[in-house]
Amino acid sequence: MSANSSCAAENTEKTMSHWPQLTCTCQVLGVKLLGASVYEVRLALPELGEELGFHAGQYLELVLEDGKAVPYSIASAPKKDEIELHILNQEGGLSEKVLELFNSQPAVQVRMAMGECILYPDHLDAREELLFVAAATGFGQMKAMIEHALDEGVKNPIHLYWGVRAQEQFYLKYLAESWANEHPQVHFVPVVSEELENWEGRSGFVHTAVIEDFDSLDNVRAYVCGSPQMVYAVEDAFLEHGLKEGRIFSDVFAYAPRSA
Ligand SMILES: Cc1cc2nc3c(=O)[nH]c(=O)nc-3n(C[C@H](O)[C@H](O)[C@H](O)COP(=O)(O)OP(=O)(O)OC[C@H]3O[C@@H](n4cnc5c(N)ncnc54)[C@H](O)[C@@H]3O)c2cc1C
Repeated sequence: MSANSSCAAENTEKTMSHWPQLTCTCQVLGVKLLGASVYEVRLALPELGEELGFHAGQYLELVLEDGKAVPYSIASAPKKDEIELHILNQEGGLSEKVLELFNSQPAVQVRMAMGECILYPDHLDAREELLFVAAATGFGQMKAMIEHALDEGVKNPIHLYWGVRAQEQFYLKYLAESWANEHPQVHFVPVVSEELENWEGRSGFVHTAVIEDFDSLDNVRAYVCGSPQMVYAVEDAFLEHGLKEGRIFSDVFAYAPRSA
């Protein structure tokens, strides 16, 4: 725990599987460029024992000075005293302002934790296959869940499909490759959609690669992170390819419902 990190409860009602939402002052431990304009931000997590925590797959909100809250997936597994975020810097955009804040302030205000796209290792059926589909920085959310699954000794097959437009955007490819090298149940498939020069791997839409590789998705539990357009295209294609209703999880379903 850091002396500069602290929390105030906003909603102290703890549900069966969730911690109360808290607004915390978190010390900024470091900001570094991972590659392709994606920055890793590390924050110290205040120690509040049973009152503070998050599940693998959840996100937090950075609270700006004007009160605006900007959501970021937590890219690290729970049970550590620090949190990692992966932030894409879009020049001139809000993300640039956010990164300036992390670079200039010793501590920031965050509200956490949110989201229902969660991996609960205890809830898995031993026979089901875990499928993680990420677009660009969506890798961060998948990283949290995969690292948690490996930490908890999950033996289910784990398939990670990571889609980007150009291969330079695989900002932590070596990490995904190391999971696959060190854990026989992990399979990593990088997929490039647009800039294919000097790329000899899989190409096209990331979900098309999944459909090509699986005869049916009837034994799969799928976690998807990307734009609403991408996530709904994936959902439609997967359901048509045998995925059972209720076995696909994404934050998009809550913050950008189809009916809106
Ligand atoms: C659940 C969830 C998880 C997310 N996780 C991640 C993640 O892990 N990594 C990641 O990089 N992104 C993530 N995002 C996106 C992130 O929340 C921001 O939207 C993104 O960083 C903004 O980047 P931008 O520069 O492209 O935005 P912009 O296109 O510049 O702006 C996005 C929005 O912010 C407003 N805005 C622009 N400038 C300002 C300003 N100066 N002050 C106030 N408002 C402004 C705009 O009007 C617009 O509504 C996530 C989003 C969601 C919903």
